[in-house]
Amino acid sequence: MKITQGKINELLTEPGCEHNHQKNGQKKNKYCTQVAQPGAAQGGCAFDGAMIALVPITDAAHLVHGPIACAGNSWGSRGSLSSGPMVYKMGFTTDLGENDVIFGGEKKLYKAILEVQQRYQPEAVFVYSTCVTALIGDDIDAVCQAAAKKTGTPVIPVNSPGFIGSKNLGNRVGGESLLEYVVGTQEPELTTPYDINLIGEYNIAGEMWGVTPLFEKLGIRVLAKITGDGKYNQIAYSHRAKLNVMICSKALINMARKMEERYGIPYIEESFYGVEDMNRCLRNIALKIGDADLQERVEKLIVEETAALDEALAPYRARLKGKRVVLYTGGVKSWSIISAAKDLGMEVVATSTKKSTEEDKARIKELLGKDGIMMEKGNAQELLRVIDKTKADMLIAGGRNQYTALKAKIPFLDINQERHHPYAGYVGMIEMARELDEALYSPVWEQVRKPAPWEQEVI
Ligand code: SF4
Repeated sequence: MKITQGKINELLTEPGCEHNHQKNGQKKNKYCTQVAQPGAAQGGCAFDGAMIALVPITDAAHLVHGPIACAGNSWGSRGSLSSGPMVYKMGFTTDLGENDVIFGGEKKLYKAILEVQQRYQPEAVFVYSTCVTALIGDDIDAVCQAAAKKTGTPVIPVNSPGFIGSKNLGNRVGGESLLEYVVGTQEPELTTPYDINLIGEYNIAGEMWGVTPLFEKLGIRVLAKITGDGKYNQIAYSHRAKLNVMICSKALINMARKMEERYGIPYIEESFYGVEDMNRCLRNIALKIGDADLQERVEKLIVEETAALDEALAPYRARLKGKRVVLYTGGVKSWSIISAAKDLGMEVVATSTKKSTEEDKARIKELLGKDGIMMEKGNAQELLRVIDKTKADMLIAGGRNQYTALKAKIPFLDINQERHHPYAGYVGMIEMARELDEALYSPVWEQVRKPAPWEQEVI
């Protein structure tokens, strides 16, 4: 798949994403179609985004064609876990140097693919282009094709040079590669009326494993995980599923929409965070599959799970009740975590809307109430101002904001992709309550809030 300006525009104006439309839902949003400005890749370039979307395919090798820093900067920074194969954890790169820039890196890439295939026998090799290899004009599509012919292993080109835009665009580029080279290339041994795909769930800290047992209990089969704890062959036959369940809102919306177009698979957008959302997710899946028996089983399961959960959460609810939280995260989490915090009796006093769609914002408004603050801007200064104004007890945000929380002398909970604790599903609620409780009641805060010796009055 060549990455042309037309392709980039197509991804930026994806009709399934409200981000791409002005408020009345008609015209295209100028922001999405404008050429990436210097600094647009700050916080993750398109290459990084494509890696985020595809690296969780655990039995494939992921080879970065570029200078070593591209692979080094992003390697291992996301806690997407595997239930078996570990080849996805290896960092492969062609490590281009000056000579390759002058003479071209295609031969080196070809040799690297062969070596990776011979030494590790992955189910497939994904090859990522980067800024340098795109600028020198290496034809990774042709090299991948030749290497696939030689090895008999699928070799998938991912044309994702960082300069084409942001991390979000890169997610979609990753999705396009799957659509073009993987989905529909194999057939499953059997299909059932209860086959679903999970799209955009990356199994961070093993979150998915808190939810898949529920599907198993209900008799719902997850045909393919796209891509957390994903297997190449499953994705190759994922076009036989009856329903696509999109978890991380818009990251791979192009995949869900195009699979509906090409294979007639409807999709729904759901969240696994919080009791309400988890209940709704199970109900909506049963409703879409359209089986009355399944709907009945879902209702029964919800009663059982929520009763057990209420019991487990009771001690935490008593300690967390009324605590004021500032939430700073993006996309679906900007509202789904509000719902989870509310389930625990906490009050979210402010949340970010920087990366939220119009639909996300509407949900946030509904959940926050009229006094809640929606932060459009997101820098440390603004966060400190909001924390001070709202007298917040805690900050829930991505890892890089922990120092802002320390400056404000309030506890912090990491909610983004680097986190080490799974918060999804009913069991995830217990984990989240435990983590919140530990952070809020850590004795360190008493020490931190004491005046420093040099601030104390000398008698
Ligand atoms: S792909 Fe480009 S922007 Fe991304 S890490 Fe490599 S050099 Fe930097």
